[in-house]
Amino acid sequence: MQQVRVRFAPSPTGPLHIGGVRTALYNYLFAKKNKGTFILRIEDTDQGRFVEGAEEYIMESLKWCGIVVDEGITEGGKYGPYRQSDRKEIYRQYADILVEKGDAYISFDTPEQLAKLRSDSEKEGDTFIYNAAARVRLKNSLSLPEAEWKNLLATGCPYVIRYKMPVNEDIHFDDIIRGHIVVNTNTLDDKVLFKSDGMPTYHLANIVDDHLMEISHVIRGEEWLPSLPLHFLLYRSFGWNAPLFAHLPLLLKPDGKGKLSKRDGDKMGFPVFPLFWPYGETAKGYREEGYYPEAFVNMLALLGWNPGTENEIFSLAELIDVFSIEKVHKSGSRFDPEKAKWFNHHYLQCRTNNQLALEFRDFLRAKGYHHDIVNLEKLVGIIKERVNFVKDIWKETDFFFRGPDNYDVEVIKKRWQSETPVQLLELKAVLENIDDFSPAITESVVKEWVESKGYNTGAVMNAFRLVIVGASRGPHIFDIISWIGKKETLNRIERGVSVIGKQ
Ligand code: GLU
Repeated sequence: MQQVRVRFAPSPTGPLHIGGVRTALYNYLFAKKNKGTFILRIEDTDQGRFVEGAEEYIMESLKWCGIVVDEGITEGGKYGPYRQSDRKEIYRQYADILVEKGDAYISFDTPEQLAKLRSDSEKEGDTFIYNAAARVRLKNSLSLPEAEWKNLLATGCPYVIRYKMPVNEDIHFDDIIRGHIVVNTNTLDDKVLFKSDGMPTYHLANIVDDHLMEISHVIRGEEWLPSLPLHFLLYRSFGWNAPLFAHLPLLLKPDGKGKLSKRDGDKMGFPVFPLFWPYGETAKGYREEGYYPEAFVNMLALLGWNPGTENEIFSLAELIDVFSIEKVHKSGSRFDPEKAKWFNHHYLQCRTNNQLALEFRDFLRAKGYHHDIVNLEKLVGIIKERVNFVKDIWKETDFFFRGPDNYDVEVIKKRWQSETPVQLLELKAVLENIDDFSPAITESVVKEWVESKGYNTGAVMNAFRLVIVGASRGPHIFDIISWIGKKETLNRIERGVSVIGKQ
């Protein structure tokens, strides 16, 4: 195989959707698997759609995922510049080559004329297509005498350059994922290659750059499949070898109905962007929601590909090892927000208690709680299995840090008996006599006491939990009291008895 060079070529028109990150990831995995080069090229020829901050967002997203760019705007490389607006001077000569060859032509129609043609066709129930039949009726370098169109050019009349689509020709080409495809040129239109603002369109710039940057494989989203016949024809017109193509399946909404769109995240309550996007409409990001990048990348890799085994857990290095572009699926992949959480749960369990405690300590500091790391290690060890995210640890453990402000009324109704206050005060006295508050010790002493008194264990324990936690939730009660300590335990019993007694 020739030297593998692939590119991720996003347009900086807003935050990068997770579908875009998946495209970058598959390009990266393919490049690294084949000891090739991964290039980041910014395609910003559509100046009208340029969004401030999007370029930085793309770079930061890739970095967060651990996708390392070999050649790009900040990395450099001998095929640069890597931003199309910085390559502006390159494209015109290629458009001219096609005009000279007769494969493209200069077209003088104004946007108003085109709008009128479209609306006239619509009135007749037709769709206007700029094709061989239309071009002969319109103002261009094919329909006008040479002197006339050259004069229009000389007098500064605005124009675009269009590709002259061949008539009734079957174009054959191959896609690594979709196999052999045949398209008849009569279904295609004369696409604009060069615009009146002096910029190339996506089609021209993309082909010229892929050629000049010696791209070996184009791996991109399925939405670009309809452009593939034109791209093949452009390679043919230039007399260049085309790269190999692989069009990735769509990412579908969780119910499988339609493409996962940028708006779905906010509507359905899960992120569709890797990072928080602070401009314009606010949009949640996986990073800020508390996902680990390795969980995000693992989840994304399996949306549209799998190695054909039962294994679902892969580090980035393992993905590079097992990835194969031929195994990418043809049909769309349904995005499953629950599965995304499942992956995070998995990677959270793989963290050591020390790592998790450090992460949770930052979270606590922001809330004004300061605890030493050894205590926090114990706490995360108790709770880890129940949580998907570090922020969940707080939801599960808030009562470790502060005694209850109020007590669950339903639990009081069900569990608070006339004898409860006396029993709890007895329990308090029993606990007062224990010096070693480790869970095994307190548990055995308390159980012995309950039995010796002939009390109902369940009733005592439920009331005990109520005064300590304020509700019926939480891990093993003896783990809780061991962590909060003797003094705090006794205070909470006393406070609970006096407050609930008055309710
Ligand atoms: N600029 C295009 C995009 O935004 C690139 C498509 C391609 O990879 O050819 O997705």
